[in-house]
Amino acid sequence: MLGKGLTGRVVVPSDSQYEQARQGYNKAINKYPAAIVYCLDYCDVANAILWSREQGVELRVRSGGHDYEGYSIGTCSLVIDTSPLNGIKINLADNTVNVQAGTRLLSLYEYLYKFGYTFPGGTCPTVAISGLVLGGGIGLSTRYLGLTADSLLEANMIDFAGRRLTANCCCNSELFWALKGAGGGNFGVVTDYKFKLKKVDGITVIQLRWDDNRAARNSFLQVWQGWLPHLDRRLSLFGGIYKEGAWVNAFFYGPPEEARQILQPLLNIPGLTLSNIAYVPFIEAVKIIGAMYPKREAFQAAGRFVQRHFSQAELEQILGIMDKAPSDRNSSIRVYSLGGAVRDIGAAETAFTYRQANYIIAIASAWEETDAAEAHREWVKAGFDYIYTITRGSYINFPYSQTPHYQQAYYGSNLRRLQCVKQTYDPYNLFRFPQSIELPL
Ligand SMILES: Cc1cc2nc3c(=O)[nH]c(=O)nc-3n(C[C@H](O)[C@H](O)[C@H](O)COP(=O)(O)OP(=O)(O)OC[C@H]3O[C@@H](n4cnc5c(N)ncnc54)[C@H](O)[C@@H]3O)c2cc1C
Repeated sequence: MLGKGLTGRVVVPSDSQYEQARQGYNKAINKYPAAIVYCLDYCDVANAILWSREQGVELRVRSGGHDYEGYSIGTCSLVIDTSPLNGIKINLADNTVNVQAGTRLLSLYEYLYKFGYTFPGGTCPTVAISGLVLGGGIGLSTRYLGLTADSLLEANMIDFAGRRLTANCCCNSELFWALKGAGGGNFGVVTDYKFKLKKVDGITVIQLRWDDNRAARNSFLQVWQGWLPHLDRRLSLFGGIYKEGAWVNAFFYGPPEEARQILQPLLNIPGLTLSNIAYVPFIEAVKIIGAMYPKREAFQAAGRFVQRHFSQAELEQILGIMDKAPSDRNSSIRVYSLGGAVRDIGAAETAFTYRQANYIIAIASAWEETDAAEAHREWVKAGFDYIYTITRGSYINFPYSQTPHYQQAYYGSNLRRLQCVKQTYDPYNLFRFPQSIELPL
């Protein structure tokens, strides 16, 4: 049934489901597509691509709808939504799993854990595998097991002509290289993935908080940057500071007593209000961290790679930005550990180029009342403008529309090669959005 118009479940503005269907995770994004097609099989994806070309309607590709800037949706566009494609199949013979594009992370973690396996995914339960892996993918297993993209063995993608291509290290290998860090919305619609897996049982989950403790913020940033470059790779952490304190969430692939020893520099920061270090089944750890995310929220955020130690003056600037935040609790400067297994792979071996960074620093602010949005956006912009001057490179999965020279920022030294891949696999630039990879000049 290829080329027979739109197939699948089509939602248009006059449908009662339209309002809900156009919403993504970020409530601050308000875009009005011409149609959303929920693809029930791979033919529906190919038909949608061909339809968009025939009709001259721009397309966007969506799986979990968590893009910070809403690049998976566009006003007057056709949204190709893969969320119904959410099948998972484990292959016990070779410790791999086949996962369809719209699968959400929690269902994948739960499925795999039943067989005693995991993979290095992200922390938000409702993010879909597609956006995560195609942008690299970081989480609380990253330093031990690498990026999500580092576990990818193969992907299938439907291209501008409706053809289904297999990409792996032997076949369409340049495309495969590009999908591992720069694949989101740029080359075609990826329909399914094959990942290698890791056996897992229990791990140590860590939650530390310094609430109502402004002094802890400076100590936290100092300890973080001094300690991280030499840290045991079994430990991965996401943390940050807010107006009134600091926090850390982490996974340690080892026993809690050892975790405690390694964490000593952080535990020594005075005024801990929560210190949970517990050995739990892996899936419990995933759920404890996942439970911290709201169902949806209105926010603005941006993330940059940190390669060097900040001076005390630079840390004070960061604290000064934090002090001006519009919200006591919902504005934060966050840090996401890299290093460990991320550095085992070279900068040109996958499209994810910033392998040598120590961590990602992000500035984020969320609001409830619409009339507060401007103050939050202005704060993020001012903070980003400063952080931009002390960092190098932006993380494509934490995109920010105000990023100067965005292609260079996201892809650095891999940019030219990515533009050649674009030329080969999407020669008419069908797969484009405000920060997509452009064809070479
Ligand atoms: C609350 C929250 C928590 C997060 N936590 C983490 C984290 O722990 N680690 C991390 O690395 N990131 C994290 N992120 C960022 C997240 O990885 C990215 O937003 C990711 O792109 C979302 O994927 P998605 O499929 O859910 O989103 P979508 O908005 O559907 O897609 C994101 C991008 O991928 C493209 N895309 C989607 N599906 C396909 C497909 N099938 N084929 C080709 N392109 C496709 C879209 O066009 C878009 O450019 C988080 C984001 C949020 C909002």
